[in-house]
Amino acid sequence: MWPAGNSHYREKRVTAEILDGRAMGAEIKVELRDEVRKYVQEQGRSPGLAIVRVGGDAASGMYSKAILRVAEVVGVRARLEELPEQTPADELRAILQHLNADEATQGILVQMPLPAHLSQKMVADTVTPAKDIDGISPRSAGDLFLGLPSFLPSTAAAVMEMLGRTSTPLAGKRVVILGRSNVVGKPLSMMLLQKNATVTICHSRTVHLADFTRQGDVLVSAAGRANLITADMVRPGAVVIDVGINALPGGGIVGDVDFASVREVAGALTPTPGGVGPLTNVLLLKQCLQAAWREIENSPSHL
Ligand code: NAP
Repeated sequence: MWPAGNSHYREKRVTAEILDGRAMGAEIKVELRDEVRKYVQEQGRSPGLAIVRVGGDAASGMYSKAILRVAEVVGVRARLEELPEQTPADELRAILQHLNADEATQGILVQMPLPAHLSQKMVADTVTPAKDIDGISPRSAGDLFLGLPSFLPSTAAAVMEMLGRTSTPLAGKRVVILGRSNVVGKPLSMMLLQKNATVTICHSRTVHLADFTRQGDVLVSAAGRANLITADMVRPGAVVIDVGINALPGGGIVGDVDFASVREVAGALTPTPGGVGPLTNVLLLKQCLQAAWREIENSPSHL
């Protein structure tokens, strides 16, 4: 037994550094506002973003409004096209084709989920890759797979931005991702490979999950399961990025990570809310600006 009162012998409890996505998002907003200003000075107009929302999903409605607010702050001209739930596929396709050709639109975002009668594949195939700023088209996914410049799904991009801005070492490190969705897990694995990480993707059929998660120098959870990651599943000192958003029955949200216990083990940890969430909108708008510059670079007068 350690002598009571002798602090010299007591174990020092070091808790994880909390990675503040809100502060990071605010910093990127300021940078982006300056970059948009330069574009406007040179081109005489702002980049244009069209958000298309079909039906009345409450979460996507809040997400659209959040993007509009950030767009206003950074100087991107954004508009929201709200279509009725029953919009036929042909009509949605025609609207997207119109936006593809519209000179005032440099980026197109179609809010998910779509009503059941509309296919995500049709949307991904219709939005022109040049305006696909959330990286949903097969062309964007293929370019990412091939290691070519591409538009990136904004949540996966937000995880990379968080790791980059916190100077988290990736080359030669073991990164474990929970989730293999097309918007988070899969694209993120490709981005991490490009940074020379050794990547493991786990999913709902992974057996002995903790054996994998404990190996991660970096652990990213995008499973959408509250409190899935407990302290015993985390390598001491690991960087833990919690992408999950889980609504609590009594209101409020939590991530996939049991924050209170994991912060005693991890080296760094994102909170929920306030983790990668605040980075996603601003990175989406950053890609809208990139689309606007690429349009100029690829225009016949520039070539
Ligand atoms: P998704 O399409 O439902 O994919 C979830 C993935 O997690 C699937 O691959 C699933 O495996 C895997 N999974 C589910 N339960 C698991 C378990 N017990 N153990 C290991 N893997 C498990 O979800 P998503 O769109 O990628 O989103 C993931 C989470 O991130 C959600 O909570 C979502 O709300 C959140 N999110 C946050 C942001 C943000 O800005 N912070 C943005 C987008 C999404 P299978 O493939 O085997 O089914």
